[in-house]
Amino acid sequence: MERPFVVIYLVGVCIAGLIRVIQSRKYQRSEKPQVSVLELWLMLLWLIASQILPMVYGFRAIVSFANYPLPHFLSILGIGVLVLSLWLLRQSHVDLGQNWSPIAEIQADQVLVTQGVYRYVRHPMYSAHLLWGLAQGLLIANWLVGWSGLIAFALVYWVRVPPEEAMMQERFGQDYLEYKQDVGAVLPFVG
Ligand code: SAH
Repeated sequence: MERPFVVIYLVGVCIAGLIRVIQSRKYQRSEKPQVSVLELWLMLLWLIASQILPMVYGFRAIVSFANYPLPHFLSILGIGVLVLSLWLLRQSHVDLGQNWSPIAEIQADQVLVTQGVYRYVRHPMYSAHLLWGLAQGLLIANWLVGWSGLIAFALVYWVRVPPEEAMMQERFGQDYLEYKQDVGAVLPFVG
């Protein structure tokens, strides 16, 4: 096991948790939160895949049968991807402010944010989670544990984004349609 890289990944998980705890203090619950049972299950799956499994991997050898050799330079690249994802997670929280919510919902005083990192992508927070999954794969050289976070978050994304965008479109109408036309979903400059 490439222990230092796993440790770096787990430190990243702790920093992400800290960012979440600090930033989510702004959260105001809406009257009509909408979350499907499928989405809740997928979020639980993501939590296990991105946080619990890597901890098990870090402290126990039970999943070591799925280890494979990964060149060091890829893991070093993974550190850069992890740092980028943590920066983007924090920055998207800062830019979204109290419009953030852990589930898809519209708050009474919600505004459409199109500034900061939202100028470049519509879902920077989800981009941050996809980058986090990529970093996990690059830092943990194990087929089972390394790529499980990215796959689990891709499923969350696939289930969550269509209703979230429909909600935004219903609330902000033409403004959201224009924003959607100009700005890509998770990659900058890709519509
Ligand atoms: N999908 C966004 C936000 C995730 S937080 C991202 O990845 O960065 C989820 C909440 O953010 C949703 O309930 C939605 O109401 C809100 N939201 C999403 N995009 C927004 C935007 N551009 N402006 C304001 N609120 C937004």
